[in-house]
Amino acid sequence: MSPAELEALAERAGRELEGAPAEEIMAWAFARFGRRLAVTSSMADTVMIHLAERTAPGLDVIFLDTGYHFVETIGTRDAVEQVFDVNVINVTPELTVAQQDAKYGKDLFASNPDLCCAMRKVEPLGRALQPYKAWATGVRRADNARRAGTKVVGYDRAKKLVKIAPIAAWSDDEVATYIDDHGLISNPLLADGYPSIGCEPCTSRPIDGSDPRSGRWAGRGKTECGIQL
Ligand code: SF4
Repeated sequence: MSPAELEALAERAGRELEGAPAEEIMAWAFARFGRRLAVTSSMADTVMIHLAERTAPGLDVIFLDTGYHFVETIGTRDAVEQVFDVNVINVTPELTVAQQDAKYGKDLFASNPDLCCAMRKVEPLGRALQPYKAWATGVRRADNARRAGTKVVGYDRAKKLVKIAPIAAWSDDEVATYIDDHGLISNPLLADGYPSIGCEPCTSRPIDGSDPRSGRWAGRGKTECGIQL
């Protein structure tokens, strides 16, 4: 299928599946793309991982192991590998943190977070997604204003991938209810005041109570890592 055909397919599916249950959107994605569908997870909650397992046991789940994660996040990843029937793929940057420090100076996240994210998140994700045709994430419209227009199925022209956001329309309460109903494990930091969890040096508790992502790169004029979600 050409990129133009994939884009047309994604746009049509986005219209037709708007309002459909997340399980139906994931089922459509797996029926259409099979094992060339991957899920990405930041190991905050495990809603998308549970949806992946219910859709297709053994489905690939990509985790970007930046080298800067909280121990709680790494512990959640390890627990996911034990608890869920999914294939966790741990993706690492080209350079270790020590190699990056030696080449660019210590704590690049403080002096040039865009470059740090480019090397530790954007490039590894692009590399990891190359074998796939479609990519499912837990991005939601309620996350913040920039994500308010998220489609349940869209197309990423840069990556030439169909992007699936099965829980795009879910509220915070719906996420909490799903976690409770299914007894899902979550990153303990969620219960410790961190509603949005990224790398440890760039994550603090929210500084603006109305924006759960306001603790990310706080004070650095940066709001996203550069991954087009
Ligand atoms: S979130 Fe911070 S530590 Fe993580 S890759 Fe980006 S700048 Fe580096």
